[in-house]
Amino acid sequence: MGNFETHQRAGKKYGVIALIVATAIAFQWNGELSAALLVGLTAGAYGFVASLLPDIDHQDSIPRRKAGKLLSVVILVAIVLLPAIAPDFTKGLGRLAIMIGIGTDPLVVGSGVLLLVGAGLLFTGGNIFDRATTHRGFTHSLGFAFCLSLVAFFSLRYVGSIDPSLGTLSSELGVLVALATAGGVVVHLYVDQ
Ligand SMILES: [Zn+2]
Repeated sequence: MGNFETHQRAGKKYGVIALIVATAIAFQWNGELSAALLVGLTAGAYGFVASLLPDIDHQDSIPRRKAGKLLSVVILVAIVLLPAIAPDFTKGLGRLAIMIGIGTDPLVVGSGVLLLVGAGLLFTGGNIFDRATTHRGFTHSLGFAFCLSLVAFFSLRYVGSIDPSLGTLSSELGVLVALATAGGVVVHLYVDQ
């Protein structure tokens, strides 16, 4: 497992990569450099913070099995409800898949991606990395990465609603921040290996 400094170093590197990749994709999507940079910077910052978050479970007393079950339920509910309550999120996922040449309709493709991710997470119990890590809190799982990415996405909506100048973040572009957040958790799990 990595100590705090190791995680911080990996998180910073990852944050910079997330910033560059998210800015590039956002620019391709909406063609506005300032908006793309805002998305990129947010993705980098969220990714960095997410790469440090899993270790909050050191003092966690929630029994692991219970938390795992709860995550499974959250994932199932998210798969069923997201296309309806967060079409932007689903469409954003779809647009990413379309960029690599899969399908044509963002909402349909996005729903498919969501289904695949959910099935994968449930199939693996959301814990691909878990056996390899030394501390085994539920925050050290891919299920946590998935849930945190949703939290990140909805937090952007909230940010956009209090400051309209940040409204760009509460669109399909928010998906880039959500994915950067999930990636941050994955980077943490990788360092812990
Ligand atoms: Zn850790």
